[in-house]
Amino acid sequence: MLKVRGYSAQNAESALAPFVFERRDPGPRDVRIEILYCGVCHSDLHQARNHWSNSLYPMVPGHEIVGRVVKVGAGVKKLKVGDFAGVGCMVDSCRECSACQEDLEQYCERGATWTYNARERHSEQLTFGGYSEQIVVDEHFVVTIPETLDLKAVAPLLCAGITTYSPLRHWRVAPGQKVGVIGLGGLGHMGIKFAKALGARVVMITTSPEKGKDARRLGADDVLVSSDAAAMTRHRASFDFLLNTIPVGHDVNPYVQLLKRDRTMVLVGALTALEPALQGYNVIGGRRSVAGSAIGGMQETQDMIDFCARHDIVSDIEMIRIQSVNEAYARLLKNGVKYRFVIDMSSLQESA
Ligand code: NAP
Ligand code: ZN
Ligand code: ZN
Repeated sequence: MLKVRGYSAQNAESALAPFVFERRDPGPRDVRIEILYCGVCHSDLHQARNHWSNSLYPMVPGHEIVGRVVKVGAGVKKLKVGDFAGVGCMVDSCRECSACQEDLEQYCERGATWTYNARERHSEQLTFGGYSEQIVVDEHFVVTIPETLDLKAVAPLLCAGITTYSPLRHWRVAPGQKVGVIGLGGLGHMGIKFAKALGARVVMITTSPEKGKDARRLGADDVLVSSDAAAMTRHRASFDFLLNTIPVGHDVNPYVQLLKRDRTMVLVGALTALEPALQGYNVIGGRRSVAGSAIGGMQETQDMIDFCARHDIVSDIEMIRIQSVNEAYARLLKNGVKYRFVIDMSSLQESA
């Protein structure tokens, strides 16, 4: 066992604070990674604060992990000591069910093992995430990171990146289509970059008119402010695809009305009830769909990283020290991040 330092939440109200815990020694297929950077996803905040009523404490959040391999088990083939590696939202799954067989481990029928706020499949030990010095993960759940990419800006790709890339690919977003990305935050800013790289005409749909300039810099061709009723009417029934990253339950009806006939809006943000309710006529008229999507499988996550390397795509980040993580959460809640916080994990040494 290895003693590891990190930051944890002890309950839904407590500030995150220094925490020491143990990681297993690497087994034959395990990789031990020295964590260099970890992104701060809105899901970290949701779970640390028990917004989804399923939190297990103590909780070490963090599932946008990038680091250097420091040890590998005897059977590891994919990585060697010194390689740069990434870990996202999952660290295990059953590997046998139809979802796992189809490289869709995130939909494992026996339940994927999440990087934190979960229990390991065999030992029932709590899993602990990336706000820590080191992590030990089965190589199947580790991706390789090309040295050409800016490592600290790669970290958010492991969740924000794959969560936006996967639905854009699954629903076959293609050149010339009009694609709306709803919510300009960590996920949304990656959604713009990917949709643009796939050749779409991208419209940023936002509640924050002041983000318009940034949206265009990130690649949006147009900006639609959702509180502008006249503009929403002008864009009615004109979108080929909508990627909705709003982090809370909300009124989806005005957005669904933006879709053309037979087109889909994919929810990736809101896990809780959508209120007011979806009006049936908004999907029945126009044969529209409202769907959902969770992260992406491991093979697709590697494909996404390779796509980023080819298209020179990384996240727009603001670096923080781990000691500032509570202030970072407060800003995240107030919609004040441009566009992803990334923790420089070397700052952990300072709190020793
Ligand atoms: P974020 O950085 O906070 O961005 C969310 C954006 O949504 C905000 O910047 C804001 O954009 C908009 N927004 C916030 N509150 C809103 C409200 N009440 N009504 C309308 N718009 C609102 O969050 P994130 O890290 O991108 O995560 C977004 C959501 O995705 C979270 O709920 C997270 O848990 C979830 N998530 C899901 C998956 C998955 O696998 N499906 C993976 C990762 C994260 P504007 O200012 O532009 O309106
Ligand atoms: Zn996440
Ligand atoms: Zn499975």
